[in-house]
Amino acid sequence: MTDVLLLNADYTPLRVVDWQKAVGLVLDKKVQVVAAYAGQIIRSTQLNLPWPAVVVQRRYTRSRGAAPYSRINVIARDGATCQYCGARPRTRNGRSHWEELTVDHVVPRAQSVAGEVVLPWSGLRVPVTSWENTVTACGKCNRLKGARTPEQAGLTLRALPRRPDEHQLMRLAFTRSANLPAEWRSWIPDDLAAAAAMAS
Ligand SMILES: [Zn+2]
Repeated sequence: MTDVLLLNADYTPLRVVDWQKAVGLVLDKKVQVVAAYAGQIIRSTQLNLPWPAVVVQRRYTRSRGAAPYSRINVIARDGATCQYCGARPRTRNGRSHWEELTVDHVVPRAQSVAGEVVLPWSGLRVPVTSWENTVTACGKCNRLKGARTPEQAGLTLRALPRRPDEHQLMRLAFTRSANLPAEWRSWIPDDLAAAAAMAS
């Protein structure tokens, strides 16, 4: 119970830091404490401080880096939701059931040339397995679609697949790394909390 959730100035999760780092940021007035671990006090000669659970930066930080392409990150980007029918498979205890989901090549591999496909909606040429040509699909939709484009199969994408934006990158990084104390819950979207629980 010593990890601290660091929020960006817009209260979106940024990353997890250890408590020493968090206390340093509090003392430097770089962050404010927005939630503390109940009943725990950090005592030193200089201060008695409620043990921070969640802190928020005073200044907004832009994200850096890029999320690596992976099956898990595609499903996280899509909120563990089938991009054709909207199904969100659940386990018996209500978590997102990622094993029930597949990653579908929107323009199928069978229609690729030299490992690349042309996206019908933008005319761009991209690798067949890339952020722009893969979406989360339930098993039923994936089987129904087969080696066809959505149009050929009579299916409609709920959203065009894209490389994750900065906000999504934060959430992806967070989903992969966190286990979730109760004190963090208010700042973490439900689907990501379920995703993090599944991943941990
Ligand atoms: Zn589906």
